[in-house]
Amino acid sequence: MNIPYFRYNFLYNEFKADVDNAIQNVLNKGAFIMQQELKDFEHAMENFTGAKHVIGVGNGTDSLILMMKACGIGKGDEVIMASHTFIATATAAGWLGAIPVLVDCGDDHLMDVSKVEAAITSKTKAIMPTQLNGRTCEMDKLQEIADKHGLIILEDAAQALGSKYLNRCAGTWGKAGSISLYPAKVLGCFGDGGIVLTDDDQIAHDVFCMRDHGRDPETNQVCMWGINTRLDNLQAAVLLAKFKYYEKTMLRRREIVQRYCDQLSKIAEITLPPAPNDKDTRHYDICQNFEIEAENRDALREYLKENGIGTIIQWGGRALHQITELKDSMRFDVNDLQRTELLFKRCFMLPLNMSVTNDEIDYICEKIEKFYK
Ligand SMILES: *Cc1c(COP(=O)(O)O)cnc(C)c1O
Repeated sequence: MNIPYFRYNFLYNEFKADVDNAIQNVLNKGAFIMQQELKDFEHAMENFTGAKHVIGVGNGTDSLILMMKACGIGKGDEVIMASHTFIATATAAGWLGAIPVLVDCGDDHLMDVSKVEAAITSKTKAIMPTQLNGRTCEMDKLQEIADKHGLIILEDAAQALGSKYLNRCAGTWGKAGSISLYPAKVLGCFGDGGIVLTDDDQIAHDVFCMRDHGRDPETNQVCMWGINTRLDNLQAAVLLAKFKYYEKTMLRRREIVQRYCDQLSKIAEITLPPAPNDKDTRHYDICQNFEIEAENRDALREYLKENGIGTIIQWGGRALHQITELKDSMRFDVNDLQRTELLFKRCFMLPLNMSVTNDEIDYICEKIEKFYK
């Protein structure tokens, strides 16, 4: 068998007829920038997530930067985030002159909410959890901490469109949230894309202006410094076409992870994250990634590779605090990051996408079992 970690060409084949239609329609109209499809997509995302405002932007890093800027994050402000996140979470803070302050993760690989309070100083402005691997943090507890200290919560929900905690969508808990539409995300376009979510009229207004050269969408007049980071209308049309199947997509991904968990849970050398069907009814995970922990990880990955199975380690194998080239721009104490340290010696991800078949999952599990025997 040959099971690459991801099959990018499958993304088009899966939705070919719908996507061809959507693209031809936009091309025939000549509707490229800020047209009806973008508005329709933003409204579809508002209805789906429950956010009052959704603003489409160029990618999931610009959405982080604009959301933070609109919320007043700036020079010298400290922003608390998990060390186990993509560089973009920290980049967004860094580009605004703010300082990422790194905290440890828990057994579900997300920010350990119980470690946040100890990281708060007089300079802390925001807590920015990453809704990692399609799962949402314990946001009620985080909100309590934020309220107690007068901080705002901003969500990097890049990996979590439709993920819920206590029946509320990722990206709608904080003052604002950011989601990526990168091709490999659960809802991905055919290029770059991202959205900002917020219930706050002023923040929404500022993001609407900033993404389009600082122009007010009502008057078309410049009212602030902006940049050009609009979500392409063509991408919005593709996203709308794919979004019709999103419920089905989330369910299939949960089924894949459940199938992996059913077979891998009996292997002592493997540690699994919470399965989507667990008794814990508080979380609804959309299963963006299946990140597991394994003893003798590197040899296991090599063995899987020899058997045609592609795997990857998130962020190229380094948590934020392990990026030595940037460590002077972030604040952390490695002694407080021991769970993350352990995780990055053991974690890697198995293929989880809409092209993976049940037979392939069973084959992968068989090989993992065989490796430890
Ligand atoms: C994908 C991702 C982003 C943003 O990625 P873009 O490629 O800029 O859309 C940000 N944070 C996390 C955690 C991500 O996984």
